Amino acid sequence: MITRSSVPLQRPGREPRPLPIQARWQTQLARAIRDPRELCRRLGLDEAWWPGAERGHALFEVRVPEAYLARIRPGDPADPLLRQVLPLAEEAVPMAGYVADPLAEAEHAPAPGLIHKYAGRVLLIASPACAVNCRYCFRRHFPYEENAPSRAQWETTLDHLRCDATIHEAILSGGDPLAASDRQLAWLVERLAAIPHLKRLRIHTRLPVVIPERIDDALLGWLTTTHLQKVMVLHINHANEIDEAVIAACRKLSAAGVTLLNQSVLLRGVNDSIGALAALSERLFEAGILPYYLHVLDPVAGAAHFDVADDEARELVAGLREVLPGFLMPRLVREIPGEASKTPL
Ligand SMILES: *Cc1c(COP(=O)(O)O)cnc(C)c1O
Ligand code: SF4
Repeated sequence: MITRSSVPLQRPGREPRPLPIQARWQTQLARAIRDPRELCRRLGLDEAWWPGAERGHALFEVRVPEAYLARIRPGDPADPLLRQVLPLAEEAVPMAGYVADPLAEAEHAPAPGLIHKYAGRVLLIASPACAVNCRYCFRRHFPYEENAPSRAQWETTLDHLRCDATIHEAILSGGDPLAASDRQLAWLVERLAAIPHLKRLRIHTRLPVVIPERIDDALLGWLTTTHLQKVMVLHINHANEIDEAVIAACRKLSAAGVTLLNQSVLLRGVNDSIGALAALSERLFEAGILPYYLHVLDPVAGAAHFDVADDEARELVAGLREVLPGFLMPRLVREIPGEASKTPL
C-alpha cells in the first residue's frame, strides 16, 4: 500500500520530469502529484490559488496522477476535470447539514472491511487507497485505517458471506479496489468464487479512467478466469475524462466479459448542464459503457460548493430525456442513510 509517508512530497523547484503517461500503473500511482502548489504550477494557475489549495489539502490531501493531469486544460481554473481534484478554500467553510459520514456507513460494518446495508449484496473495502482524491467524495472522512483487513481478518469477513446464503453479489469497493495488487485481488476473488451462493462480482472503480494502464495482463488474468459474472461500475463525471487510452482499456474489459456501467455525481461547475450530461452519455457509449446512476451530491463536509438543488437536478434530467435515447439515460438518485436502496428523485 502506498501511504502518504512513503512518498515524500516534492519540494518546490525540484520537480521530477513528468512521467511518460504509459508508465506502469504502480509507478503512476506512486508518483501522483500530492502537493497542492505543484498541481497549481503544473497547470499554470497563479499563486492566488495556493492558499485555498493548501487549506483544502490539509483537510483531504491532493492526489492526481499524470495520466489524469494530461486531460486537464492548462491555465483554465474552470476546467471540469480540474474542479474535481483542486482543493479550494470553500472546503474549510462549515455548512449546516454537511457532515463527516453522510451515509452513516459506520453503522453497517459487521466485520473488518465489510459493509452490509443492501439486501443480497455486500460491499468489501478491498483497498483503502484511491488513485485520485475527488474533492466531492462522500468517503473523504472514512476511517480507512480501521478497514484495511489482514488476510486472517479477511477470512473472518468471508465467513460472514459463507454463512449467509442470501448474499449473491460481492461488490469490491474502497477507496478504489483496483488500487490493491493483482496478487491480493486474485486471492480474494478466488475465495469469493468458492462460495456456492455467490453469483456476481461487481467492482466499483475509478482506476481504469484515472490510470487506464491499470487494465493490464495481470488484472485481465484473474478477471477472465473467474466463473463469477462480472460487472464493473466506473465512475466518470465528464466526457473529457474519456480519452483514447480509456477507450482502449474499456475494450479490453468488454472482451474479458465484463459488463460496463457508469455512475456519476451531479456536480456544480463540472457537469451541471444538459449539454455536459448529454456529451457524457454519448461518450460513455463510445467506450462501451452504459450510464447507470446520476447521484445527487451526498452532504459531506467540505463539498457544499458542488451542490445542485433537487429541483434543478430534476429539470436537467427532464431536459436530458428530450435529447437522448432511453438507454443512455442515467437514473437520478439519492442515497438516504438507512434505506435499502437508492431513492429515485
Ligand atoms: C449504491 C451503491 C452500491 C449498490 O447499489 P445498487 O443499487 O445495487 O447498484 C454499491 N456501491 C456503491 C459505492 C454505491 O454507491
Ligand atoms: S472513493 Fe471514488 S470518489 Fe472517492 S476519492 Fe476515491 S476515487 Fe474519488
